[in-house]
Amino acid sequence: MFTLIELPYKSLAPVISDETLSFHHGKHLQAYVDNLNKLIAGTPFESMTLEEIVKGSDGAVFNNAGQILNHELYFTQFCPACHSERSEESLLMKQIIKQWGTVEAFQTAFEAKGVSLFGSGWVWLQADAAGELSIAQYGGADNPVAHGFKPILTFDVWEHAYYLDYQNRRAAHLHELWKIVDWNVIESRYTK
Ligand code: MN
Repeated sequence: MFTLIELPYKSLAPVISDETLSFHHGKHLQAYVDNLNKLIAGTPFESMTLEEIVKGSDGAVFNNAGQILNHELYFTQFCPACHSERSEESLLMKQIIKQWGTVEAFQTAFEAKGVSLFGSGWVWLQADAAGELSIAQYGGADNPVAHGFKPILTFDVWEHAYYLDYQNRRAAHLHELWKIVDWNVIESRYTK
């Protein structure tokens, strides 16, 4: 039985409005949780973790489990008071600078990958087993775990993530999100 995660903050406004946050977390994510619980009742999936389900399922079970996993990674990577604080000395920052030259160049490439994703999906920073990073876009509920990568950072480009606040301006929304990214969380995902 999966439950809706609690948010570690009350508000992410003005980057993400309280209205969007309320619908995104309380309605969209809640629906994925309710759907998955119904779908897996009485099946071997009931005793598995989300990552195990994602790796071993397809169809509706994969879509709902994937969306729960994606949203848990998404919602827990933000911090309203972080103001993009980050240490250039961290292992992740050093790797980003090694591969993209500057953090700003990485951010620009990440935003562009989100903008060019056709339809609904997610843009990811992912790592392979050797710690090499890559930016990937996956449609629907798909994610790095299903492809053998470790998920590090993700921006949701489903319209429900931004339409109330930014309408069709996906690029503007993605650009604003850096203001609330908690780099300590992102770093811990990379080094764990
Ligand atoms: Mn979403």
